[in-house]
Amino acid sequence: MSNKPKKIAVIGSGPMGLACAYELLKNNHQVDVYERDDRVGGMSASFDFEGIKIERYYHFICLPDTPLFELLKELNIDDKLCWRDTKMGFFYNGVLYKWGAPIHLLTFPQLDLISKLRYALHIFYTKSINNWDSLDKVNAIPWLKKWVGEKAYSMLWDYLFEYKFYEHKENISAAWIGTRIKRVAKSRKNVFTEKLGYLKGGSDTLLSALEKRVLALHGNIYLSAGVESVTSVNNQVEAVVVNGEKRCYDGVVSTIPLPFVPRLVPELPTETIAKINGIANCGVVCVVLRLRHALTENFWLNINDPEMEIPGLIEYSNLNPVREENDKPNTTTIPEGIVYVPFYMPKTHPKYTKDNASFIEEVQGYLNRINPDFSKDWVLAAHVSRYEFAQPICSPNFYQQLPPIQTNIQGFVMADTCYYYPEDRGISESVKMGKQLAQLI
Ligand SMILES: Cc1cc2nc3c(=O)[nH]c(=O)nc-3n(C[C@H](O)[C@H](O)[C@H](O)COP(=O)(O)OP(=O)(O)OC[C@H]3O[C@@H](n4cnc5c(N)ncnc54)[C@H](O)[C@@H]3O)c2cc1C
Repeated sequence: MSNKPKKIAVIGSGPMGLACAYELLKNNHQVDVYERDDRVGGMSASFDFEGIKIERYYHFICLPDTPLFELLKELNIDDKLCWRDTKMGFFYNGVLYKWGAPIHLLTFPQLDLISKLRYALHIFYTKSINNWDSLDKVNAIPWLKKWVGEKAYSMLWDYLFEYKFYEHKENISAAWIGTRIKRVAKSRKNVFTEKLGYLKGGSDTLLSALEKRVLALHGNIYLSAGVESVTSVNNQVEAVVVNGEKRCYDGVVSTIPLPFVPRLVPELPTETIAKINGIANCGVVCVVLRLRHALTENFWLNINDPEMEIPGLIEYSNLNPVREENDKPNTTTIPEGIVYVPFYMPKTHPKYTKDNASFIEEVQGYLNRINPDFSKDWVLAAHVSRYEFAQPICSPNFYQQLPPIQTNIQGFVMADTCYYYPEDRGISESVKMGKQLAQLI
């Protein structure tokens, strides 16, 4: 494509869509962003939690998230990036153990020394992997069992797969789980201490700065404006249809979850549509509670307990002291604890249809198991968010399953969080992908 300014529509205003729009505007293109929701941000959007602006889903930043750091610098908000030494716990069969440092593994009474050494060796090895091509072809569960043994697998890994993927658990790529292990394992101050980051003001700080830049460069962001279809003529993109109105463009970039695309662009080749439909997804129902007191000292709590149907919970206030930021004089309801409890599951799972109140009720029972001092009067507020396509299932040979970013329709490109496989979905990877999409179109 020539460098002549073009008129481009970007569908979706998550970090990928906004980063793409910003990049296009810097290159003098004319850009309109369309967002179905009433706010920007997608999975990283925030909501007003009775006076506290907070993300619908928890977000932590890791030391290897370089594309994010570069963008923060460019937007002059790198001073908002804060780091904290975080603690991890492991709730196993009713007992809360410290976790995440070599000493915790060594003193964990439920595993033999050989299993512990194998577990540690596996993390050490995974941290050193740079090329994931061969692991792309390997199934995660046999790979983990080979490294850590059956016993450590069932104690430390099995429930994570079960309560995130359900019937898909036997079909996860080792490369996908490997990059997750590596990202977190590399986010440490030293061998003893994990170090995670957050943005002062949460992900909203990044989203607002991006939104401002897009508007300052004369881009438009249309909210509550879901794109209904993308039209083309002779395999050249022509327009997007929004609220029944056709708006013409030279190029269209889709950053929405891939499963939505075939409905919007039925002219895609059948092979591309089949590939999109072949990628399974899990949804998430995420309960957030504001608590009068801290539940534990941990940011991350892995849970393997026969009476709890979750792989873990995130006590976000042990990373981001939201309380300090929001502290106002004479306010008595500022919480000590903010806890996120994500229930991942395929949206075909019968539990997905349960109402929000049942999820909140279930979580309160869990919190009481973790900290017997917890009682319902600790709960200052509760909120539930759902996202239908929260986690793509990256199965072995996933590279081959991805349809091309550049489709047969000239001027139409598409990507979502699947496209930075083997990396897991994350803000940093989404902004990197957004930039790449801008270069491609
Ligand atoms: C529970 C949970 C925890 C997470 N934790 C972390 C974390 O700790 N750290 C981290 O970095 N990342 C985390 N993530 C991932 C992070 O939120 C995502 O990677 C990131 O938000 C993806 O951005 P995106 O722009 O690629 O896609 P999305 O956020 O999916 O944005 C897509 C946008 O498209 C819009 N859209 C859909 N259809 C249409 C349409 N027809 N027309 C117009 N707009 C449309 C949607 O409303 C949405 O706003 C987490 C996600 C979840 C769900």
